[in-house]
Amino acid sequence: MASRKPFVAGNWKLNGSVELLNEMASSIEAVSNDQSVDVALFVPALLVGESAKLDVVTGVQTVSEFESGAYTGEIQASLAKELGAKYALVGHSERRHIFGESDDVVAQKFVMAQQQGLTPVLCVGETEQQREQNETESVISAQIDAVIDKLGVAGLEQSVIAYEPVWAIGTGKTATPEQAQQVHQFIRAKLASLDEQIAQRLQILYGGSVNEKNSSELFAQPDIDGGLIGGASLKKDAFISICESAKG
Ligand code: PEP
Repeated sequence: MASRKPFVAGNWKLNGSVELLNEMASSIEAVSNDQSVDVALFVPALLVGESAKLDVVTGVQTVSEFESGAYTGEIQASLAKELGAKYALVGHSERRHIFGESDDVVAQKFVMAQQQGLTPVLCVGETEQQREQNETESVISAQIDAVIDKLGVAGLEQSVIAYEPVWAIGTGKTATPEQAQQVHQFIRAKLASLDEQIAQRLQILYGGSVNEKNSSELFAQPDIDGGLIGGASLKKDAFISICESAKG
């Protein structure tokens, strides 16, 4: 099995401040100094330039599917790149469910992010109802297939997938390590049926109420390569301890 570097990313959502960013930057540098874990922050778009200047590996939380033009309020992938962003989240469940982004729109955003030199982090995951109706795998397959339909499996080579069960995001309900591993394994096997190398190299993160107490057990699962952390990424000590735990 390919050895994959662990990756821990914080998603600040509509939170954070210049002050918090400054407070976090040196601790993130210290924890990632030995190169054994990739650490990034998905900050609000207005903080991207500031974050990159502090040498924090930075991502935007969404990008527009349009390259440029009359789209008031949208986040331009090329400009995020120019300001120093490395990653773009696409398809976070809050974008899908609150802002109505379809699988197809998410896939277009994925394409735009990649075209502009950002590494897309594709978020996938089922709702509680879909899980209860045994639709977890079909929902996730459709979310991934929307990207494969546009770019082929090769499109996933320069990307990251984050499995985030919707019922676990911001709820304090975490998937058990076994539940999460099962889905991660499903995702990797699905991709392996198309391209074994891409599947083995791809970082697949788990997200959903990860904290400093449950991260080690989740990250110890063979197909879980780190985490996408919401609430706990706003607390410096908790976030750094989660990053430490990904080192194994
Ligand atoms: C997220 O927003 O991606 C997330 C996983 O949030 P939380 O850790 O707060 O559940």
